[in-house]
Amino acid sequence: MFVKYLKCSKCGRIYSLEEKPVMCKNRDLGRLDIVYNYDAIREAVKPSTLKDREPSMWRYMEFLPLPDQSKRVSLGEGWTPLLKAERLGEKLGLRNLYLKDETRNPTGSFKDRCMSVSVSMAKYFGFKRAVVASSGNAAAALAAYGARAGIEVYAFVPDFAGYGKIAQLLFYGARVFRVRWTEAEDPTVKMMRLVAEKYGFYPSPSFGPFNPYQIEGPKTISMEIVEQLGWRVPDQVFVPTGAASLLTGVYNGFRDWNIVGWINKYPRLVAVQPEGNHPFVRAWMERADPDKIRPWEKPPETIATGLEDTYPWDGDAGLRALYNTDGYGVVVSDEEILEAMKLLASMEGIFAEPSGAAGLAGLIKALNDGKIDRDEEIVVLVTGHGLKDPDIVKKTAGDAPTINPDPEEFIKTARQYYKANL
Ligand SMILES: *Cc1c(COP(=O)(O)O)cnc(C)c1O
Repeated sequence: MFVKYLKCSKCGRIYSLEEKPVMCKNRDLGRLDIVYNYDAIREAVKPSTLKDREPSMWRYMEFLPLPDQSKRVSLGEGWTPLLKAERLGEKLGLRNLYLKDETRNPTGSFKDRCMSVSVSMAKYFGFKRAVVASSGNAAAALAAYGARAGIEVYAFVPDFAGYGKIAQLLFYGARVFRVRWTEAEDPTVKMMRLVAEKYGFYPSPSFGPFNPYQIEGPKTISMEIVEQLGWRVPDQVFVPTGAASLLTGVYNGFRDWNIVGWINKYPRLVAVQPEGNHPFVRAWMERADPDKIRPWEKPPETIATGLEDTYPWDGDAGLRALYNTDGYGVVVSDEEILEAMKLLASMEGIFAEPSGAAGLAGLIKALNDGKIDRDEEIVVLVTGHGLKDPDIVKKTAGDAPTINPDPEEFIKTARQYYKANL
C-alpha cells in the first residue's frame, strides 16, 4: 500500500483510498492527484530488483495505486520496444533518435496502460459497471479490460462517430450509444458524468477530473524509457497531445523517479497538437496561467481524431510540466502528420494512426525551427496503431493495381505504378 492520500487539484480536499474516491465531491471537476509514500517505495524496491521483473508495465507496481495485486486486470500492456531509428535518424540528421512503439499494446494504443490501472481499481473497489465518453482508443481499451474483468462497459460516442471505431467496441461487448450533438457542450462527457453521478457507474475516460487512476498508467512509459536507455534520461520527449493526460502522466513518471532519487533530471517535454485543434499549445504560446486555459472555440478539424479534445482536461498539470522542464509546444498540419505516418511506415516499419504519428511530425517541425542539437537523445512516442483508421490509409495509399499472372506485365506495372527501379 504505497498511496498516502488523494488531493483535489482545485479545492485541496483530501481523500483516502478507503473512501473509494473517483471524482471530487465538491463537483468542481478538480482532479484527485495521487500522493505516494516515497520512503516506503524506496524501502520496497531498488533499480537492481527491476531487471528480473515481468515484461509489462506492472514491473513498476509500487508506483501504481493498486493496493492488492490479486485484483490486477492485465493483458500484458507496456514494456513496449524503444527502437533506435537508424534510417529515419540518418535522413533527419539525428544520431540518437528513438521511437517508443506504443502501437504494440493489446488494443493498439497506449490507452491500454490507462485502462489496465483504471479497471484494476474498479475491480478492487467492487464496481460492476463502468462508463466512458470517447469514440476512440480510450473506449476500445476500457471495453477490452472491462471484458477481461467481467465489468459491464457503457460507452457514449458522438452521433457522427465512424463505424471503424465502434466495431471494436461492440465486439468487446461494450454497450455503445450514439449521442446527438445539439449544444456546444460535449454531450458524451455530459452523459458520462450524469450516469456516473445518478446511477453510480464507475467513470473511466482517459482524463483526470473524472478518473484519477488511469492517468497513473502512462507514468510507466517514462520509467521504461529510462530503463531501456540503460538508466539515462533522454534530452527531449515528443508527446502527441489532446487532453494532455498522456503528457501529465509522462511528466509524473520522471517526477516519481526524481523523488526516489533513481534519476536526477527531466527531459524537455514537447507537446504536439494539430493545427485544427490546439487549445493546449495555444495556452503554452500565450504563457497562460495553467488554471485558465481557454477551450478551442470551433469543432476540431483534423485527421488526428485521438487529439480532438477541445478542452484539455489535464491541461493545468500538462502546462506545468512544460514550464518545469523547459519544454515547449509545436503545432503541425494534417499534411505534416500524413508525411510523418509515411516516414514511420516506409523507413522504420511502424504503422501508426495519424494521432500516433503526430509526435514525429512535431519533431520534424522542431528540428526545422532549430530547437534540437544533432547529438541529443530524442524519444518520440508513437501512440496508436494505423489499422485503427482504415479510411485515412485508403485515402492516402490508394489500392493496389491488378495484373495478369505475367512476369512482363509485372515489371511494366511496377515501373509505371510504383516507379520501381527495375
Ligand atoms: C488519446 C491519444 C493521444 C493523446 O492523449 P491525451 O491524454 O488525450 O493528450 C495521443 N495519441 C493517441 C493514439 C491517443 O489515443
